[in-house]
Amino acid sequence: MRTSQMLIPTLKEIPAEAEVVSHQLLLRAGFIRKVAAGIYTFLPLGQRVISKIEKIVREEMDLAGGQEVILPIIQPAELWQESGRWEVYGEEMFRLRDRHHRPFCLGPTHEEIITALVRSEVSSYKQLPLLLYQIQNKYRDEPRPRFGLLRGREFIMKDLYSFDRDEEGLKESYAKMYRAYSNVFRRCGLRFRAVEADTGAIGGNYSHEFMVLADAGEAEVAFCPACDYAANIEIALARPQNKGRQEEIPAKLELVPTPGCQTVEEVASYLQIEPTKIIKTLFFKADGRLVSVLLRGDRELSHVKLMRYLGCRDLHLAAPDEVKEIAGAPTGYVGPLGLKSIRVIGDLEVPYMVNAVAGANREGYHYMNVNAGRDFELAEVADLRQAEAGEPCPRCGVPLERKRGIEVGQIFQLGTKYSRAMGATYTDPQGQEQYIVMGCYGIGISRTMAAAVEQNHDASGIIWPLSIAPYQVVVVPVSNRDGEQMAIAESLYYELQQAGVEVVLDDRDERAGVKFVEADLIGYPLRLTIGKKTIQEGTIDLKWRESGREIALPWEGLARRVKEEIENVLKERYGR
Ligand SMILES: [Zn+2]
Repeated sequence: MRTSQMLIPTLKEIPAEAEVVSHQLLLRAGFIRKVAAGIYTFLPLGQRVISKIEKIVREEMDLAGGQEVILPIIQPAELWQESGRWEVYGEEMFRLRDRHHRPFCLGPTHEEIITALVRSEVSSYKQLPLLLYQIQNKYRDEPRPRFGLLRGREFIMKDLYSFDRDEEGLKESYAKMYRAYSNVFRRCGLRFRAVEADTGAIGGNYSHEFMVLADAGEAEVAFCPACDYAANIEIALARPQNKGRQEEIPAKLELVPTPGCQTVEEVASYLQIEPTKIIKTLFFKADGRLVSVLLRGDRELSHVKLMRYLGCRDLHLAAPDEVKEIAGAPTGYVGPLGLKSIRVIGDLEVPYMVNAVAGANREGYHYMNVNAGRDFELAEVADLRQAEAGEPCPRCGVPLERKRGIEVGQIFQLGTKYSRAMGATYTDPQGQEQYIVMGCYGIGISRTMAAAVEQNHDASGIIWPLSIAPYQVVVVPVSNRDGEQMAIAESLYYELQQAGVEVVLDDRDERAGVKFVEADLIGYPLRLTIGKKTIQEGTIDLKWRESGREIALPWEGLARRVKEEIENVLKERYGR
């Protein structure tokens, strides 16, 4: 293509609404435009990147035995009522009615549609296993759409569903997808980790997320630098770190005034103790029931762990008046001593805390030298806190690291959750009817594009991995008014096209500086510059965007050489 004929509306200023790098650069370099909150148009360059990611995804899904289908975006409410998710999905679901007032939704995911399809088309064990996938727009009415393509309300996703005879089969399908996903993200040029994850609204019992490590990520990952242990911080195992430090002798319980001390920090500084000495007491409403949670003062609660432990669907902090009613004191002064008629759950570390400080359930007072078991009953303990960086890996003991990540894919072992709810069965070799065992596997295509930018950019712009770049090469004549330069540029452009290289010719009558700045902003992996030197010495400057490496090569035979170099890099760095 010639830039004079392309729609590449670049922007000089950083758009005010864009908080993260990928959003800023994709707007500035002319890849996307916003239509409404969380809803975007993909411009020609953006669409080319999307198609390339989709191509890699298709290749890997097909090689793993997947077959592509297209399921409808508009889905009837009845199927969601069958699975029980019409209510559960809540306000995140875009709902609509047809002219006969029948309820529908815009698909946020497709488990219901695909289970209904397989229920009617599959009846025998001979038809299993079956892997079906699609690449399509999905819709979720996010409360806070933000960060451009990272959290949109309309986004492009690949979703594959596996159907197996039994758990063994599911494990095989899951392992295939795990490998295929690793290939997809490696081929897209991303640095990622597969991490153990919560199953959330999709359900099921086992799941991995594929996380691209980047500061803009909304999730946090704990991972071991020595072994392959990695988990979303929401579920990463957090063993008690204060075990075996009980040389301290339990002292006499003491009531002390702590006027105006509401927070852990205030109590710690007033009493001149470490936050590790404080028992933090929190009150939650879990599916409408009040529960109390105890945690060491410096620790953070994992809401997901608490929800899993309680088996509840809804969890939020209790209102101050509810706390006061049950504990007899305002939130800053509550503690486990004398707390009655409420379920109390302690984190695994609480029983090992000796001579701790806790709220006295009396305004303006705390107890010192509190010991679980002696001063209050702790019947329930569970792993409820977030793991911290530096604590030993639960597998091998090496200190864990903690980083932010962008979730670009997630795979789930669903089991029979949907097939039971919707009656999807097959007949086994003995003639018995069995529930089909399912898995589901998603990749955020548009989010992968944004994640690639988060990981691959510098102050000048995007640095596309060669495998997903909108074009591989840009040819830049320094002066359009120089007939000799333009003739060489045109002929090189023609030869590159003939060789099958994806090439753009910057044929605009602009200053060379403007063209260079735009080429760097857009992020073409390779730039070929034709200037005075080309005429005088017969060489063309070849510059790699990623490394900045620049060499002058004779322009005769250059197209073939560039083609070979591109093929080598694609094979070695981004190949299967
Ligand atoms: Zn480890």
